[in-house]
Amino acid sequence: MDADRRAELAKRLGEVRARIAAACAAAGRSVEDVTLIGVTKGFAAPDVQALADLGIADVGESRDQEARQKHPAVLAGQTPLRWHMIGQLQSNKARSVAAWSSMVHTVDRPSLVQALDKAVLDARGASKPLDVLIQLSIDGDVSRGGALGADVPALADRIAAADGLRLRGLMVVAPRQMDPIAAFEAAARAAADLRADHPSANLLSAGMTGDFEAAIAVGATHVRVGTALLGDRRGFV
Ligand SMILES: *Cc1c(COP(=O)(O)O)cnc(C)c1O
Repeated sequence: MDADRRAELAKRLGEVRARIAAACAAAGRSVEDVTLIGVTKGFAAPDVQALADLGIADVGESRDQEARQKHPAVLAGQTPLRWHMIGQLQSNKARSVAAWSSMVHTVDRPSLVQALDKAVLDARGASKPLDVLIQLSIDGDVSRGGALGADVPALADRIAAADGLRLRGLMVVAPRQMDPIAAFEAAARAAADLRADHPSANLLSAGMTGDFEAAIAVGATHVRVGTALLGDRRGFV
């Protein structure tokens, strides 16, 4: 890692932390109630390590294969990071993802609940359940992942009944064509409904580089920030 890149990451992280602090102040919230997830997809292990050295405790990855390869390289640096799976997930990757991730944000269908539960129970048993969020589709276009709002209660009950999983809350991505404030307000209402049925499901993962202030305003507990922290993901599709 060259010194220039390290200095750039430090500067970017400072700017993101300042934006988070301003959004929290505007919303009357404490910065401690918002976890910054550095989205490191498309960036190599030295960048992840540098962010960890700068104090980032949570990183997000969207592809199993990439994360699976990076994870041991960063672990070797002895950094106790939490790795979040934030990308669409095929059931046949459940076993691998359960091995490297601390939280899966993208659970959106019963078959995936079943696959993740079995993977955790086979690998380490019910004493170490995997934290999961239900990804909610705000606009009902499920082609980009996410469950329909009407399907969330049954999915939540299924997760709650799975010994290998712990239901922690909701995750959303604001649809491109929608006003992010309206999208996140809908997400916050859905999160409150979920919490009424499952009190420990009190997390809301919402907001990215372009819109995380709006997410913090409605109560996001986890923001997922890539570009503002690391720069453009050249070549990553
Ligand atoms: C890539 C990604 C992010 C980060 O996006 P930026 O705009 O680069 O901050 C956040 N959430 C999800 C689900 C992503 O896939």
